[in-house]
Amino acid sequence: MESQKKLVRTFSFEFFPPNTPEGADKLAQTAKQLAQLNPKFFSVTYGAGGSTRERTLRAVLDLRAAGHAAAPHISCVGSSRNDIREILKEYQTHGIRHVVALRGDLPSGTAASGEFHYANELVAFIRGEFSDQFHIEVAAYPEYHPQARSAQDDLLSFKRKVEAGADSAITQYFYNTDCYFHFVDECEAMGLSLPIVPGIMPIGRFSQLARFSDASGAEIPRWIRRKLEGYGDDTASIRAFGLDVVTKLCDDLLAAGAPGLHFYTMNQAGLTTTIWQRLGL
Ligand code: FAD
Repeated sequence: MESQKKLVRTFSFEFFPPNTPEGADKLAQTAKQLAQLNPKFFSVTYGAGGSTRERTLRAVLDLRAAGHAAAPHISCVGSSRNDIREILKEYQTHGIRHVVALRGDLPSGTAASGEFHYANELVAFIRGEFSDQFHIEVAAYPEYHPQARSAQDDLLSFKRKVEAGADSAITQYFYNTDCYFHFVDECEAMGLSLPIVPGIMPIGRFSQLARFSDASGAEIPRWIRRKLEGYGDDTASIRAFGLDVVTKLCDDLLAAGAPGLHFYTMNQAGLTTTIWQRLGL
């Protein structure tokens, strides 16, 4: 954690692009509330294969028009070089200078017909075509990516992304600080010194969290899973327990030198704001 301790902390909040006018209004309200916490930026996810291309851009432009810094995610799987070039040119036209660059996942059963296989190729492409005009964030996996052949392979994949030109990284969410600190130490041992900001998933609904974790490989520790299962439909208890667990997680991460926090907000302000207030940030 040595290099992480020297850095200015970065706090950011992630949204998904709304697909109805009501969703867009709600997101504007959520962003307004969260903006009071003074994050460095908001980010907006991107559907693999370009499925949310317009909506992601729309959401980013709406956030920027409301005076907030906002970065679109961009994923490359299933896309051609020309598709990606066009999207980035469009971002450039709108003055966007910050992206979260990902491989993405195509829906199961869909064949990948694009020209990119892994995120390092996207990062290299952005640097090759646009030099340093974009600040590039990439994804990191302290519990390792579920498709990685081995932990070591995944670390080398991460290193390739960084060496291709990533400026900083945001992690998949986790509830066990050891995996994060170990990952950061391993990156430092490989000579990587970029900020690796922990991704934080507040706990609101157990069924949703379990679904995300099954898909992403982000572990819910057994004791947390058992507690949440035991609450059944008692959402107030799930929320109260989740707030305690996630606030402590954030507190431990920051106390040990994590260079900020990136909250997966699910377009809701409530849990993130409460955690923030409890942390006294
Ligand atoms: P990569 O870094 O390419 O890694 C994917 C897998 O391939 C890993 O197992 C890696 O070890 C392996 N790998 C990499 N290079 C090689 C190689 N040369 N040979 C063999 N194996 C290799 N998804 C979306 O669709 N939209 C989003 O907006 C989005 N936002 C995200 C934001 C964050 C902060 C995070 C953590 C994830 C996000 N995701 C998003 C999910 C992400 O797209 C998936 O986790 C996806 O499976 C991997 O993307 P990646 O960019 O990490 O891929």
